[in-house]
Amino acid sequence: MKPFHPTPKTLMGPGPSDVPTRILEAMARPTVGHLDPQFIALMDEIKLLLRYAFQTDNALTFPVSAPGSAGMETCFVNLIEPGDTVIVCVNGVFGGRMVENVTRAGATAVVINEEWGKPVDPQKVEETLIAHPEAKILAFVHAETSTGVLSDAKTLCALAQKHFTLTIVDAVTSLGGVPVKVDEWDVDAIYSGTQKCLSVPPGLSPVSFGPRAIAAIEARVTPVQSWFLDLSLVMNYWEGARSSSDSGSAQKTGARSYHHTAPVNAMYALHEGLLMLREEGLDAAFSRHQTQHEHLRDGLEKLGFSFLVEPEHRLPQLNTVRIPASVKDEAAVRKALLEKHHLEIGAGLGALAGKVWRIGLMGASACPQNVDKCLGALAEELG
Ligand SMILES: *Cc1c(COP(=O)(O)O)cnc(C)c1O
Repeated sequence: MKPFHPTPKTLMGPGPSDVPTRILEAMARPTVGHLDPQFIALMDEIKLLLRYAFQTDNALTFPVSAPGSAGMETCFVNLIEPGDTVIVCVNGVFGGRMVENVTRAGATAVVINEEWGKPVDPQKVEETLIAHPEAKILAFVHAETSTGVLSDAKTLCALAQKHFTLTIVDAVTSLGGVPVKVDEWDVDAIYSGTQKCLSVPPGLSPVSFGPRAIAAIEARVTPVQSWFLDLSLVMNYWEGARSSSDSGSAQKTGARSYHHTAPVNAMYALHEGLLMLREEGLDAAFSRHQTQHEHLRDGLEKLGFSFLVEPEHRLPQLNTVRIPASVKDEAAVRKALLEKHHLEIGAGLGALAGKVWRIGLMGASACPQNVDKCLGALAEELG
């Protein structure tokens, strides 16, 4: 066996996205201790940069030391107690995973099913909130990566507040690609990932919790079922002495205690990726995703593709297109793209398997070179 040197690929699937060299280089810097004062200072900057990305002042904003699915689970296990009722909107794969989280945490899931390719329907949500006044939480996916659909998070959060229900929002694919306004929408708990529109390698999950979520966690009568994801323990490391609403004072005491060994070099990468996002600016990043999406859309339509999702609900960062009838073996085309062109695109999932391709324009992958490469390679392979 020899050291591993993968062939560089152009990543235009549902994540991971292309990682800029600057971020890879950050990751190669010397590992320091996870309680080293320099590293603690880096953690504080990461928290500030994440607040910028999430557009929030929430003190309880930090990356969970594991991929997006762990951020999802962190939100569910900390907010749910056995016997609770949670309304879950399911319009794709990731909503389905939310249902799994709810039932495994011992709560009852009231599921609102929506056709795949359609956004969550606010009217159905309001009817369900009225029919289930006992519901503690409304959970939905902002950007469904399995279908390429954006749901109206602002309206859904407003409905939840009107009915005194907490919100859990999946922003794994939305963060950095389309606006995610945690404070303006008054989201209670939200999670994301690093490998989609932040263009950082996979392995961390930024989360943020607002004051009502913290109050619900503090009012728990049962312990959180997961030791690793229990916020009251994790925060002793991320904030110092347990003070979930005031990171400033925790910073002064500096009393951070060991919970788990943070993935130190992965944090360097996240810090660098968030710095790049702040240098570019959120609005510039969103319009870059939109512009590249429009170029890709025009080119794909010329090649005979049609989009699964109506224009007003499309995610710029995840383009789901129907595979033309002339393509007899879609897996063979994806294989040729990967092997001949070193280009990865995504297959369809679940009911959409074999019927669609999912072409990602996430983070650094949302650039003219990638759009041109993808259109050129598809034109060649489809003959
Ligand atoms: C990718 C993704 C996840 C899961 O993230 P992992 O990092 O793969 O664990 C969850 N929700 C959505 C919408 C995603 O796109």
